Amino acid sequence: MEEENEQCNSAIDGNFEEVCPEKVIKFKPPLYKQRYQFVRDFVDQHKPKKVADLGCGDTELLRLLKIYPCIQRLVGVDIDKEKLQSNGHQLSPYLGEFVKPRDLDLTVILYHGSVVERDSRLLGFDLITCIELIEHLDSDDLARFPEVVFGYLSPAMIVISTPNSEFNPLFPTVTLRDADHKFEWNRMEFQTWALQVANRYHYSVEFTGVGEPPAGAEHVGYCTQIGVFRKNSGKVYKTSYPSLQQEKMLKFVLVGEVLILVERLRLRQQRMLREQKDLCNDPDNTDSSGPPQVLLGAVFTEAEEARIENSPKPFCEGDKFFVPLQRLLAYPKVHRLRVTEERMRSLISDSVQLSSDGSAVMDDLYKSWDYQFEDY
Ligand code: SAM
Repeated sequence: MEEENEQCNSAIDGNFEEVCPEKVIKFKPPLYKQRYQFVRDFVDQHKPKKVADLGCGDTELLRLLKIYPCIQRLVGVDIDKEKLQSNGHQLSPYLGEFVKPRDLDLTVILYHGSVVERDSRLLGFDLITCIELIEHLDSDDLARFPEVVFGYLSPAMIVISTPNSEFNPLFPTVTLRDADHKFEWNRMEFQTWALQVANRYHYSVEFTGVGEPPAGAEHVGYCTQIGVFRKNSGKVYKTSYPSLQQEKMLKFVLVGEVLILVERLRLRQQRMLREQKDLCNDPDNTDSSGPPQVLLGAVFTEAEEARIENSPKPFCEGDKFFVPLQRLLAYPKVHRLRVTEERMRSLISDSVQLSSDGSAVMDDLYKSWDYQFEDY
């Protein structure tokens, strides 16, 4: 479980094996990869669109995050300009990313700057990550950090990781894990700081970590401690209403309307066929007017009637009854759903039977239960 952080050249990467081979702790996967994996899982779960990694170092985390389709803006900030310049090119799209472009835009930007300076380009982010950053801040910068990141940038979510000093006795001769660390906190110190910051800037915080301690040393906790902060929305109650913008709801309503319409048109077709038959049998009946544009009580406006009349008519082939999708789309209750014929086809195709060319809904002209209703 060795703390193999290639990113910060820590003492723990160094010469443990020489110093005390029996005390070397090797993490599998390496600890820095576990930290990145934690962020990847978090992104996978919360699908942020705009993500900023503060203290991004050699940009490795950004390179791992750029593959997530939900992310449309990815920003890295570091005080070390050289690191950014020498690693920036690695964030350019690969050949494969031109061959198979993303569905949504992605812009990746690196800014040179300090996390304790207000930068309006970092406003409005969904997620800000600070992986192994805060322990590099001196006391003045650490004091300014919450006001800038939580108070000013105020993203929806913040992930902060930092070493857990309780784990350090498991490493050989380590007081601080990296020469540039200004401090390393135990769990109580980190959690006290994090809770104060969260309360002050209206966030909730949960604590976790990566880098499991070895068997028998569970009491020291994770090697890296992590605070996950979420901005309180101030909401007391929240509910979402069903709407036609939701695919499932649109499909549900559309299929329902289609089934009702097809059934009514099928019964009307039967009635028309019966009337035609009666007409042939009764030469005195001279009423040859077509079926009224009334479907079981629905009365249409002139414009609606014209739209229906101008659409392809239902028809029979043998004992099969067909209603063209365009006809269905002309009826007001389907028309108001504002779907194209193609969208309608894809939404209803697994719920109703379609003609072989997919242009009409197909049904049996006569059903076993029809006779029961004939006299009503
Ligand atoms: N986050 C990266 C990772 O986990 O691989 C790099 C972590 S490295 C241990 C700490 C990084 O924070 C360094 O790249 C350092 O230059 C950067 N840093 C330190 N102080 C900073 C500050 N005030 N503003 C921005 N970056 C800072």
